[in-house]
Amino acid sequence: MLRPIVRYPTADLQKPAAPVTAFDAELERLIDDMIDTMYAAPGIGLAAPQIGVPLRVCVIDLSSGKRGGELITLVNPEFVSRDGMQLEDEGCLSVPTFTATVARPARVAVRGRDRRGEELTIDGEGLLARALQHELDHLDGVLFLDRLRGIKRDLIVRKIRKLQRAGKW
Ligand SMILES: [Zn+2]
Repeated sequence: MLRPIVRYPTADLQKPAAPVTAFDAELERLIDDMIDTMYAAPGIGLAAPQIGVPLRVCVIDLSSGKRGGELITLVNPEFVSRDGMQLEDEGCLSVPTFTATVARPARVAVRGRDRRGEELTIDGEGLLARALQHELDHLDGVLFLDRLRGIKRDLIVRKIRKLQRAGKW
């Protein structure tokens, strides 16, 4: 089932999410809805707070469902390591149409659980490393806008306020 994606500046997007404690049918349903919503957007990643659910769950698929076997589901993920640096353009389904260059580590390792509660570790570099950091940021209430320098962030925030006033956001 598709769920509406909340947009910046909704307060829910800026609060840390709580760890999942029960690997049950409700979690399965949440994850399935997140995958459907990510593919429909289309996007390459989605975190539960983006559909208004304050839990530490995210899904990533760099092919956005176009290729099989690329879907990653992470419950209660945390970084094991981060190193290097990359500078690339980045966007967010909760800040549609805006992109900005964000500095991120080039390689990361993340440990978490899958939908059944089994432990898993994901090693990522390049775009996957960026997506992992972007989604884990969401679980801490951090948006890519918060990773920008003041002037760049202010410029986007001002444009969004203008769109809001015009009823176009
Ligand atoms: Zn995002």
